[in-house]
Amino acid sequence: MHSTMQAAPLSVASILAHASGVHGAKQVISATEQGLRAASYRQIGQRSAQLALALRRLGVTGDDRVATFQWNNQEHLEAYCAVPAMGAVLHTINIRLSADQIRYVVNHAEDTVIIVDASLTPLLAPLLADAPSVRAVVVTGGGDAVELLRGNGPEVAHYDELLAAEGDEFPWPAVEETSAAAMCYTSGTTGDPKGVVYSHRSLYLHSMAACTTNGLGIGEGDRVLPIVPMFHANAWGLPYAALMAGADLLMPDRFLQAEAISRMVHEQRPTIAGAVPTIWNDVLSHTGRVGTCDFSSLRLVVCGGSAVPRALIEAFEERLGVTVLQAWGMTETSPLAAIARPSATAPPERAQEMRTTQGRPVCGVQMRLVADDGSVLPHDGQAVGELEVRGPWVTGAYYQGADDDKFHDGWLRTGDVGRIDADGFLTLTDRAKDVIKSGGEWISSVQLENILTGHPAVFEAAVIGVPDPKWQERPLAAVVLQDGLHIAPQEIKSWLAQQVPRWWLPEQWTFIEQVPRTSVGKFDKKLLRAYHADGKLSITTVR
Ligand code: ADP
Repeated sequence: MHSTMQAAPLSVASILAHASGVHGAKQVISATEQGLRAASYRQIGQRSAQLALALRRLGVTGDDRVATFQWNNQEHLEAYCAVPAMGAVLHTINIRLSADQIRYVVNHAEDTVIIVDASLTPLLAPLLADAPSVRAVVVTGGGDAVELLRGNGPEVAHYDELLAAEGDEFPWPAVEETSAAAMCYTSGTTGDPKGVVYSHRSLYLHSMAACTTNGLGIGEGDRVLPIVPMFHANAWGLPYAALMAGADLLMPDRFLQAEAISRMVHEQRPTIAGAVPTIWNDVLSHTGRVGTCDFSSLRLVVCGGSAVPRALIEAFEERLGVTVLQAWGMTETSPLAAIARPSATAPPERAQEMRTTQGRPVCGVQMRLVADDGSVLPHDGQAVGELEVRGPWVTGAYYQGADDDKFHDGWLRTGDVGRIDADGFLTLTDRAKDVIKSGGEWISSVQLENILTGHPAVFEAAVIGVPDPKWQERPLAAVVLQDGLHIAPQEIKSWLAQQVPRWWLPEQWTFIEQVPRTSVGKFDKKLLRAYHADGKLSITTVR
């Protein structure tokens, strides 16, 4: 028997129509060098129509890919709306990939138009000669970027001029909800980047999940500050969720330093902000130094992308009165898949413990742990295995079938290793490729880093496995000290010894200026291992 319900497709066009119609007075506010600029969602609706008309005029049809090479700002939001709503596919290029990787993803996705911010044209211009699919480049922002880009092959136009020439009505086509709306490449820390293609349906359902109270609880009264880039896993879905909820959006553009972020929080009073732990760590040490920023508007700081140290959660709470909510996800999972919201009935101590896990799955996402031999492990808080996930906003393949062994009986193999307790909370101990195996037993680099970061003299710490003749591998701790502080590794090691088993304690220590970062701001342990292999780290051995 069929239901009697209407078959209205879940689409980006319907999110845009709702935001610009029902919440037309709400605003997107973007940072610029000259201060802030604002546009209402009603204007975003009109400008998205103008952008769609301009893109049609540039020859964009069907499922052509339209790429963005952009910061988080109003124009990026307009592309988020216009490109999928017109039936084309938005490809958000990670501006921090290497030149070779950017060339690779542009060609792999066969981008036809690239919307680039003027400040980023020097990165893009040299690649255009090797990008035959690109017919046009559209420049946002000021300066002489349009002139600089001319002569590289594609047609070059200025965004504002293109939009000014168009009307503000577009006949948004009916799309099938399962058709492609947007794509994003993984940052490719190993091998070439792999494409994940989101559907209208998956973006819609993911946004709804973000808005639920058990999710991020985004509502009409919120002001959302996505610091996580819109080129990285759709800024964790915050822009679409804010449009759906009618929440204001605060966009930091390129001003991502702790000082600029703190000022935006102080002046613009967001209620929710999302960023990786390294950003929040910087913000914390900045506000510690300055001490005049008011963070009281924030009811929630969403943090994920890598493990959130307990010390960070506690410092935010104690020093700024702000709740940090840890979330787990991947580009492949849209990305919100689990959220560490403690159970309402848990006693305080247990609740705090729950908040330091990677969280429980959001309704729609299922998780399981799988052993090396493929058997499914119990959720008993003990058994450790690879995490597999499935659900309506989890990818079932990579674009053009790359890396098929990442999929297993309809589940995505995440490459993350951990355990799940009886309450359903996931604790990751490592990424499969970062696991340290000492004498056949696993040492959790994530847990060591988490504890080390809690030492008062330590700003941040990364732990990697290094070859050892006796134990195959042993942990090496690379530590960044707080500004102006000095401490002997022996002292940190003795402190660590009170909290982890003896055989976990690193014998090798190195003090470094900064932990190297990947294109999305995570610890680049591959590079750290290479530094070690090349003898570039100055090591102290503490027995
Ligand atoms: P990349 O794979 O290039 O780092 P993603 O942003 O898709 O790009 O990264 C997803 C990975 O980030 C996850 O597989 C996991 O290893 C890590 N991650 C995400 N959130 C968390 C978290 N809260 N705690 C620990 N690791 C996390």
